[in-house]
Amino acid sequence: MAIDTIDRRSGARRGLDVLRDPLLNKGTAFSEKERVAYGLRGLLPAHVLSQAEQSQRFLANLRKLSDPLDKFVALNSLHDRNESLFFRILCDHIDEMQPIVYTPVVGLACQKFGQIFQRPRGMFIGINDRGSIANVLRNWPHPAGIIVVTDGERILGLGDLGANGMGIPVGKLSLYTACAGIHPKLCLPITLDVGTNNDALRDDLNYVGLRQRRATGAEYDDFIEEFMLATQEVFPGALVQFEDFANHNAFRLLEKYRDRICSFNDDIQGTAAVALAGLFSALRITGAPLIEQKILFLGAGEAATGIADLIVSAMVANGLTREQALRQNWPVDSQGLVVKSRTNLADHKLTYAHEHPPASDFLAAIKMLNPTAIIGVSAVGGTFTQAVLEEMARINARPIVFALSNPTSQSECTAEQAYRWSGGRALFACGSPFDPVSLSGKTFVPRQGNNSYIFPGIGLGVLACGAKTITDDMFMSAAHALAQLVTESDLEQGSLYPALPRIREVSAAIAATVADNAYRRGSAIRPKPADTLRDVQSQMYDPHY
Ligand code: NAD
Repeated sequence: MAIDTIDRRSGARRGLDVLRDPLLNKGTAFSEKERVAYGLRGLLPAHVLSQAEQSQRFLANLRKLSDPLDKFVALNSLHDRNESLFFRILCDHIDEMQPIVYTPVVGLACQKFGQIFQRPRGMFIGINDRGSIANVLRNWPHPAGIIVVTDGERILGLGDLGANGMGIPVGKLSLYTACAGIHPKLCLPITLDVGTNNDALRDDLNYVGLRQRRATGAEYDDFIEEFMLATQEVFPGALVQFEDFANHNAFRLLEKYRDRICSFNDDIQGTAAVALAGLFSALRITGAPLIEQKILFLGAGEAATGIADLIVSAMVANGLTREQALRQNWPVDSQGLVVKSRTNLADHKLTYAHEHPPASDFLAAIKMLNPTAIIGVSAVGGTFTQAVLEEMARINARPIVFALSNPTSQSECTAEQAYRWSGGRALFACGSPFDPVSLSGKTFVPRQGNNSYIFPGIGLGVLACGAKTITDDMFMSAAHALAQLVTESDLEQGSLYPALPRIREVSAAIAATVADNAYRRGSAIRPKPADTLRDVQSQMYDPHY
């Protein structure tokens, strides 16, 4: 950071004030000149380190830690001390850091949130703040551009963690900055604390949230309505990303707000785009057309519905009627195959409840339907059994197997199991990270179908052009853009996604696609630049000093 930059950003602030502001602090990397200018002489040891040296030192200490939660805490503390260094390390070592700041370790961090809590980050807005939410939001010191909000009711595959779910918006926004260069000042994590129905948590001494059962019905809806309107009053045009809401709220909140406020639900729409991109990559290997795919989902929640909806749109774009496309997608939930004859199906399952005899379990459904692809989004570990994988390999030359559930313990199968039980023929993607697998002389490199390939680029694109709404079309073009960046050598080693270190290139490409889409539809506030990609790239924050 040049001295004039820090001068502008720090205003009149000096001394410890500068050292204690994570957006300004460079610690031992302040130069002699800066130490004089900002009243830091005597407050720091004499030797001046470069950012690269600070990074090396931090990494050496981090790698000595064996417990993943300790690593999370160490990174979190750095985030609280020195944001530039934190993001420099995230950007340079995204493969190693993403699993710590986000899934799977963030799940553990949410479960232990009260125990490891040191400093607040983001905003906690409680049901008791009704009537004054806009005023509460005004306490935030920066002009938020992207808000990630959860009510903590369905954190990853871990259930209701109440206000402890805050780890998720914080982690997601770290990825917005690391993966797409959204300036940290524009990022606002929010937890809406409406209580928790998790009895153990309410009785836990360390629990940070309101000790009451969840608000529901009109009380909940009025609270969300006030919150959504307040975000736009205080931060006009800010993008609101819904995160880890339970099914019964997620689908209807998305429908209620998507055309009124620039908003999306990553669990539904971001997941859909990343899964569709993986499918596009798999089809580059098999050579089969998308419209001939029959997809069986294990799970019928937000991820399954979102993915199926986007696949249907893509199939319709490729020539099927909507009716035909719907019948290529089949969800299985805890009661078996979702079919029309079942009673009491939740609303979001009805679209995919086809006329068909029931199947009591997943293997039986595979035998009846002969799918080309299975997608696990059930949050139940070990459900892609040996029998399931062997059956998929029996009916397909190259079975498509996506085990997307998180955290790792909930993964439907491991990468090793997918390759071994399919005789090395599975086209595999995972939700949790797995190491490369060697089998019969070949090394497979499974890659995570992680939403972080998609949502940061969507956010960057929206901010860059000032999009007023986010459409399904944008997610479809994001999926195409992502799949196009998968190289032939990626495919040869079984990787259906680009290498994660290319993530900023990926995000810029997605952002340009998304922005161009908004310019075309006339729903962008800003005028179209001559070169959208360059314009987007020029807006990316670079965490070098
Ligand atoms: P969700 O709670 O909305 O849906 C889970 C679904 O699984 C529900 O329909 C439930 O009925 C069903 N289910 C539960 N037990 C089952 C069983 N024994 N057999 C079959 N179905 C069962 O959750 P979601 O948002 O859809 O997420 C599901 C999982 O996918 C989570 O683990 C989540 O972390 C993961 N996920 C991964 C990615 C990714 O890798 N990119 C993205 C989103 C979600």
